[in-house]
Amino acid sequence: MTTQAGITVRVPAKVNLGLVVGGPRRDGYHELATVFHAISLYDDVTATPADEITVTVEGSQAEDVPTGTDNIAVRAALLLAERAGVPDGVHLHIRKGIPVAGGMAGGSADAAAALVACDALWRVGLSRDGLCELAAELGADVPFSVLGGTAIGTGRGERLTAALARGEHHWVVALAGYGLSTATVYAELDRLRADRVLPVPRVPDRLMKALRSGDPAALGASLVNDMQPAACSLAPSLRRTLHVGRDAGALGGLVSGSGPTVVFLARDAEHALDLSVALTASGTVRDVRRARGPVPGARIVDQPR
Ligand code: ATP
Repeated sequence: MTTQAGITVRVPAKVNLGLVVGGPRRDGYHELATVFHAISLYDDVTATPADEITVTVEGSQAEDVPTGTDNIAVRAALLLAERAGVPDGVHLHIRKGIPVAGGMAGGSADAAAALVACDALWRVGLSRDGLCELAAELGADVPFSVLGGTAIGTGRGERLTAALARGEHHWVVALAGYGLSTATVYAELDRLRADRVLPVPRVPDRLMKALRSGDPAALGASLVNDMQPAACSLAPSLRRTLHVGRDAGALGGLVSGSGPTVVFLARDAEHALDLSVALTASGTVRDVRRARGPVPGARIVDQPR
């Protein structure tokens, strides 16, 4: 929406349907092969003209989000202003619907939304490719937050190709009452695999085939996350959450990215409701959401929440 009140961009959370992690690189990052999938849990970022670049945050975990230049949405606006030679400021207001430090790329989503919103507000007119190039400078997950859908990520996850994927899927998202730092989970993964020689990461053929077929049962059986043992080692209650979902008939379940959010695949919308009731009743999770995927990436919306 473009009014005096500003431009609002809605941006989805991501889950990794497959996350295959290679060994640590010289630069400290890990080589990945991943399948990103955008689901219908959203942050809204509203950009309004201002003298400086500032941010405010609202939502259930707003107090966990920094409001200075360490907020990645502010860094996105600063980067675009510098590269496009824009002298203006902007005020960014973030309404968080994506869990913070949940392994769903909430910060990356806000960076993508800020790029799209400021590009429109300042009339820079970057293409999607231009936005994705800037996005990759901000973080490995940011380009995917710009694009959305279902995509294969390689490198650190920033090199994207669209995935051949059919159908709409129904997800149940189990939120934990705490966060896990991505860096700590990678360190635990390296510790657990210290004596292993790791092959070049590759998305398993089985998962690619399941995506092409659109069959939720095949997809559920092919979900894979190399980071899951490390997340469960740091937060053992995640194993219980995974069991509850599977016992309640989920087609598949896995820790999302570095966790601690756990996602389950349901047969359909009704099954998703049954799963969310079972997870809520188990008392193992802070909250449960239902979501659809794939959904588009960061886009300007008419109706801010
Ligand atoms: P990923 O899945 O990309 O590994 P995540 O979803 O686990 O990330 P985020 O929600 O992106 O984690 O937050 C990670 C940390 O980044 C937070 O603890 C917070 O301090 C910081 N941060 C900076 N900017 C933001 C933002 N706009 N929203 C959320 N967190 C932010």
